[in-house]
Amino acid sequence: MSRVWNFSAGPAALPEEVLRQAAEEMLDWHGAGMGVMEMSHRGKEFVSIAEAAEADLRELLAVPANYRVLFMQGGAIAENAIIPLNLMGGKGTADYVLTGSWSVKSHKEAGRYGRVHVAASAEASGYTTVPALESWQLSADPAYLFTCTNETIGGVEYPFEPDLARIGRAGVPVVADMSSHILSRVIDVAKYGLIFGGAQKNIGPAGLTIVIVREDLLGRAMPHCPSAFDYKTVAEAGSMYNTPPTYAIYVAGLVFQWLRRQGGVAAIEARNVAKARLLYDYLDGSGFYENRVDPACRSRMNVPFFLRDESLNDAFLAGAKEAGLVQLKGHKSVGGMRASIYNAMPIEGVAALVDYMKAFAARHG
Ligand SMILES: *Cc1c(COP(=O)(O)O)cnc(C)c1O
Repeated sequence: MSRVWNFSAGPAALPEEVLRQAAEEMLDWHGAGMGVMEMSHRGKEFVSIAEAAEADLRELLAVPANYRVLFMQGGAIAENAIIPLNLMGGKGTADYVLTGSWSVKSHKEAGRYGRVHVAASAEASGYTTVPALESWQLSADPAYLFTCTNETIGGVEYPFEPDLARIGRAGVPVVADMSSHILSRVIDVAKYGLIFGGAQKNIGPAGLTIVIVREDLLGRAMPHCPSAFDYKTVAEAGSMYNTPPTYAIYVAGLVFQWLRRQGGVAAIEARNVAKARLLYDYLDGSGFYENRVDPACRSRMNVPFFLRDESLNDAFLAGAKEAGLVQLKGHKSVGGMRASIYNAMPIEGVAALVDYMKAFAARHG
């Protein structure tokens, strides 16, 4: 068996330790005589797995007691509808900050359920930056303000937390799509009304969506919101109103334990800073490659880059594959290359990429 360095944006690489543990427990989990996939979601074994996963996540992110953690399905794209269906009803208007493909998509979907207002947009920059908080223009009384704090496709990450108290609007709940950087850096959950993300970038297998929601935002769903998507119904049923994605929750729980063994979020953040610096420093110093994102807003998780001579793209990708470096092709809407370097990517993988890039540049420069 030989494993490659996998730079996929998602579904993405998982820690090898976690995969080994899941393999070991595949046929018989802790003497239960069956694997996790075969267990009733209401049995005591699986309930203990789900409770431990939630407790570990709460500890890792220091989630305050007045927030509920929900394990849902449908991914972040389904949440683009589920959020307005749950939160937009009373006020009828929601504000959006547009910083790239994902927030633009979220804004478009929300428009199907109520009025949407663009509080700030980075469109003029080609979505290569995050508009300064002081420039945001909120509407009079929005149900919430939506942000995507790491734009996976453009490689743009908020360099600040969207703390609306700083602009005198503390009463407006902030919603954040953190799909591609949740657990990669320390955050203050109390600054948000709702945090959500698909698991397949930085947490575990596809099929699981994590929602962390402040309790006072439960119970506001529009009458036609599907019951399985009503946060209050899901919270009251302990995420078991319908059958949850049990195996994905189990693997996510193993990843949370792995993260705790790494020293928690602050420790992994320090490693993520070092990994990102290694790659961006090389990109900036080479005349051969470039990253076009505002340096203050560059993502630590998703690093898009271009070869200045784009006619070499295919040769670059073919050589990378030969060197055991895969999934480096950029998103089709951006072009070029993209290296996603989530928590599970060790610095050795980033160093291997930089070494390959140097050798390729020397050969073709
Ligand atoms: C991947 C991603 C999505 C889409 O997630 P799905 O699970 O495919 O619905 C949405 N937002 C962000 C920021 C993402 O990275």
